[in-house]
Amino acid sequence: MIYRQLGKTELTASVVGYGASPLGNEFGPADAEEGTRAVRRAVDEGINFFDVSPYYGRTLAEERLGDALEGLRDKVVLATKVGRYDTDMATGFDFSAQRVTRSVEESLQRLRTDRIDLLQAHDIEFGGREQIIHETLPAMARLKEAGKVRFIGITGYPLHLLRLVAKAFEVDTILSYCRYNLMDTSMDEVLTPLAKDRGIGLINASPLHMRMLTDKGPPEWHPAPQRVRRAAEAAASLCRERGANIADVAMRFALAYEPAATTLVGMSKERHVERNVRLVGTAPDAELLGEVLEIIKPVANVAWRSGRPENDDPGAVEQQS
Ligand code: NAD
Repeated sequence: MIYRQLGKTELTASVVGYGASPLGNEFGPADAEEGTRAVRRAVDEGINFFDVSPYYGRTLAEERLGDALEGLRDKVVLATKVGRYDTDMATGFDFSAQRVTRSVEESLQRLRTDRIDLLQAHDIEFGGREQIIHETLPAMARLKEAGKVRFIGITGYPLHLLRLVAKAFEVDTILSYCRYNLMDTSMDEVLTPLAKDRGIGLINASPLHMRMLTDKGPPEWHPAPQRVRRAAEAAASLCRERGANIADVAMRFALAYEPAATTLVGMSKERHVERNVRLVGTAPDAELLGEVLEIIKPVANVAWRSGRPENDDPGAVEQQS
């Protein structure tokens, strides 16, 4: 395993980070015992960074992760979130200070620990900017002072909003998803300079573009426009013709991006842990990578709308358009 420093924090993260949303059945039913084996195998393989949220499986992922990490807590950096709780877009978010504090207590119980290493405001584009900056983050900072959490961060999809909020309130980390992988590399332009400048830890989530860059293809709920899906399918097909696998190409591409301390890949299966870890430190096949990027080029960096309209990135398109 290779480890990288997470910004200015004293935390060191494995370049492959464990994304626990599949443990909450977000990509279809996941077998609980297989999930436990995947988590334990990950720790054995040197993965030390685990990301979860009360939202994933509506608390199920936290329960399962807490269970699987029994006896291993000291070996891992545990990141969870506040602010997003349910699938209903109207009622599923609560970024109030009161809820932040209560949420952390609940997460500590489910994760069977007395401290969260990294607490992140989850998908801030669904909240009001003013509330996130003046209420949510200050409440999280108070929990940091109180020692309930060690570091605080923000997560979301629109990069310009993440940058704006990180400029307005000092955070330790920023997590964005689907913004540095074969389909989209805009994180590099929009977030990385600020992160470098301020010593903010960058977390790159969804290197497989939420399963689009696999032979199985994206889940039904995937927000990307059709033309993006078609390009990914064509790239996957080319890889098969070449006796390669699109997921391997995608993982190598993301892992090679040094500004990101860790690349979070969602896993609930031991074989995925094994496969993804095996790719650490291996070079991509430059010729195949070039051909894949050529196929993707016409739809590269196509971003979709997410959250409140005022928080969209410039040029973002309707979901599944
Ligand atoms: P991903 O791109 O990591 O894809 C995950 C899917 O790919 C799962 O279905 C998994 O079974 C499959 N997979 C994993 N390795 C594979 C392999 N080698 N071959 C074939 N299939 C493989 O997307 P993700 O899970 O959404 O993102 C990773 C993690 O990042 C999440 O679990 C979550 O922890 C975090 N995340 C956070 C946010 C946020 O905070 N807003 C958003 C997205 C993701």
